[in-house]
Amino acid sequence: MIRNFLFHRVNPERDPLWDPIDVRLFDKIINYISKKYETILFEDLAFVEEYKKKKNRYATIMFDDGYKDNIEHALPILEKYKVKASFYVVTNCIDQNIPTWTHVLENAFQKTEKKGIELSFDFLPNKFQKASFYQNSDRLSFVAELKPFLKTIDHKKREQVLDHITQQFSDVEVSQLMMNWDDLRILRDKGHYIGSHTVNHSMLGTMEDEEEISRELEESAKRIEAELGYFPKTISYPVGSFNEQTKQLSKKAGYQIGLAVKQDIHDPTKEDLFEVSRIELYNEPWFKTKLRISNTLENIKKAIGYK
Ligand SMILES: [Zn+2]
Repeated sequence: MIRNFLFHRVNPERDPLWDPIDVRLFDKIINYISKKYETILFEDLAFVEEYKKKKNRYATIMFDDGYKDNIEHALPILEKYKVKASFYVVTNCIDQNIPTWTHVLENAFQKTEKKGIELSFDFLPNKFQKASFYQNSDRLSFVAELKPFLKTIDHKKREQVLDHITQQFSDVEVSQLMMNWDDLRILRDKGHYIGSHTVNHSMLGTMEDEEEISRELEESAKRIEAELGYFPKTISYPVGSFNEQTKQLSKKAGYQIGLAVKQDIHDPTKEDLFEVSRIELYNEPWFKTKLRISNTLENIKKAIGYK
């Protein structure tokens, strides 16, 4: 049994739309996990027979997306507790220093002062094609509905919508939030692992075009190989989205591990290496974080049939 803990941003600054884990909370979490469990890289553990027999012993620390605050704020804490972590990066975001599309989207609606938007695409429901914003909260509720819808459509259409949004909200600068390849080389040289999180943060399990899925898998691995000198063992599926086809194409691309989310402990007798469970932690009160770490919260939800 392995507890794989998933993080995104770790930052002292608050963000009302997608709150990073506070630096003090992250320190407390890593201190707690490193005392309670043996922390190890999943990439080192995955191929060792032993761990399958031992219960409650291992934990891993993982970061998705490749945010700059990982090296600025999380790394010093990892080093303080002598913990190695894995970082799964979106190669286009690293190449261009642009955040993942969900972040670009939310940031645009949060910061613009524009009073309306027109997105005349016939694949969008009417309510998204034209909207007026009288106050800030109108923009925030609009994007809160638009984001889940955009997750369900194909990547090219989503790109079109995003382009239109960034053009119309030209008063918003794209935040420079990502690590660069030099940052990743520093992490690699310190013994941390860098794996893939696709080229564009595409939700692989919702895509149908086999060639497009393979491109996301293969080209991100090639970029990592070119910059860091090895073919990554691991693909972390964006938003935890995968299906049987995703698993097969990931194997074909040359990966050995595929990471899901699922908010559960990874039990190698029940899950194969292409649907590994992870537990995401959030910026929450400590008692709730502790319940997530021990997986009690999910067990309670299961017991009472809460989904
Ligand atoms: Zn992600």
